[in-house]
Amino acid sequence: MADGKTHAAGTRTLAMFLFVGQITNGIHQGYPLQTIFFSSLTLSIGALGGLFLTPDLDVDIGSDSEDEVREISPLGANLWWIYWFPYRKLIPHRSPLSHWPVIGTLGRLLYLSIAYWILLAVAYFLNSTALGILQQAGIGLLEFPYFYIAVVGLASADTLHFLMDQRIFHKIFRQRRWVPQQQTWWGKAFARNQG
Ligand SMILES: [Zn+2]
Repeated sequence: MADGKTHAAGTRTLAMFLFVGQITNGIHQGYPLQTIFFSSLTLSIGALGGLFLTPDLDVDIGSDSEDEVREISPLGANLWWIYWFPYRKLIPHRSPLSHWPVIGTLGRLLYLSIAYWILLAVAYFLNSTALGILQQAGIGLLEFPYFYIAVVGLASADTLHFLMDQRIFHKIFRQRRWVPQQQTWWGKAFARNQG
């Protein structure tokens, strides 16, 4: 029930904590400095991926995810909105499929991979060189250990999102923006808790 801005602030804060936490952990475990730095960076980049691959991609009117993409590219934001259109329509807002930890993250990664499968199918019929490159890229990604570190970061951001959507979160943090469900008409009109 936290809104998009609150979720985004939570995700950014988490990314920072993960970075510092992983550096501390790595030093404590005695890993080489280079490994510590790159694993911490990957973990927090994975968490920041939660700004784009947010569980709220299931919101019918669209989510803050498009705003994040728009800061990089306005055209990209439109394409991103279209790409996630079926996801928004198929999955009800805050369904376990989009919002539950791990399940939601893996579901979105699978959905994101549809683009790859389409490219693969096109290349299969049109261009064998491109097909080979795409296959190598796919296998390379799955064999790249840092990919899984990034996925853990992303799953952490999604888990935080899930927790922030719980009523208890607002009770603990007494979030000022939060408006209870059963409200007066003016409360409803100005409710900002669509996240
Ligand atoms: Zn949500």
